[in-house]
Amino acid sequence: MQALWLENNQLTYQDNIPIPKPRQGEALVHVNLAGICATDLELIKGYYPYTGILGHEFVGEIVQAIDAPERVGERVVGEINIACGLCDTCLRGHFTHCERRTVLGIINQAGAFAEYLCLPLKNLISVSESIPDEVAVFTEPLAAALEIQEQITIFPTNRVLVVGAGRLGQLIAQTLVLTGCHLQVVARHEKQRQLLATRQIGWVDENAISQHTFDIVIEATGSVEGFALARQAVRPRGTIVLKSTYKGDISVNFSSLVVDEIRLIGSRCGPFAPALRLLENRLVEPTLLIDYRYPLSEGLQAFGRIEQPGIFKILLFLT
Ligand SMILES: [Zn+2]
Ligand SMILES: [Zn+2]
Repeated sequence: MQALWLENNQLTYQDNIPIPKPRQGEALVHVNLAGICATDLELIKGYYPYTGILGHEFVGEIVQAIDAPERVGERVVGEINIACGLCDTCLRGHFTHCERRTVLGIINQAGAFAEYLCLPLKNLISVSESIPDEVAVFTEPLAAALEIQEQITIFPTNRVLVVGAGRLGQLIAQTLVLTGCHLQVVARHEKQRQLLATRQIGWVDENAISQHTFDIVIEATGSVEGFALARQAVRPRGTIVLKSTYKGDISVNFSSLVVDEIRLIGSRCGPFAPALRLLENRLVEPTLLIDYRYPLSEGLQAFGRIEQPGIFKILLFLT
């Protein structure tokens, strides 16, 4: 089958990779559409060690499921963390933190930039007919955006700032605006501002942020400057949610965090079911983010393009 293969920081297109064989409890899924995200770019740069087929955002169709033949033909999205179900962390219900987990296209599990992938049946969630593929493919990043609201309560009276208006920042903003909070998004580029405006979300220039006033700040840039901005914007006893990973270590003045009693919250993968509900009810509109669609066979060109400024989302399709 065709796939995009990562090895030694080098992504290659290959068309002779064997179709993966589902293990017990797993299904074989034909990938219809897959999305490229920042994590893929970080894996290529070698921030985390990974060799294999890249990709974790997808929508596809179950083509083989020995333990559940009735599910063949189902259109699905997939929870990317494959938990053992047996370790202490799993027994406490924290499956996305399983000590022995593999993660689709990220840790020891062949990913979605391929014609086929395997995932446990319990990871595969049925997609309603009313959600087209180009919408459903956003379920995973939208779930990650919703994880914020799993972790903290956002009141309508809260002043909330999102630092970063790229592909994740936009999805986060679209979910937060639904809480009725006073929301502003730091957006540098005209295209980012226009996109926010189409959803009636307010943007702010980074030089115009009032300092120490926001109850909650979401940091979605993964940059030192982004964190510094978040730190300046949050009020004493406020909360900073870290929604992006950082390259290497960053230097932070921890004493000031203590004195101001700031809460710092790391945030990663989130719940799929509410993400699908929001998509089905058109309460978020992720297709606004789609810039280009490429066939998987031209996947390397797609990766060349996504590093250009002003690009939000590129999808890879299979026919
Ligand atoms: Zn992703
Ligand atoms: Zn486990």
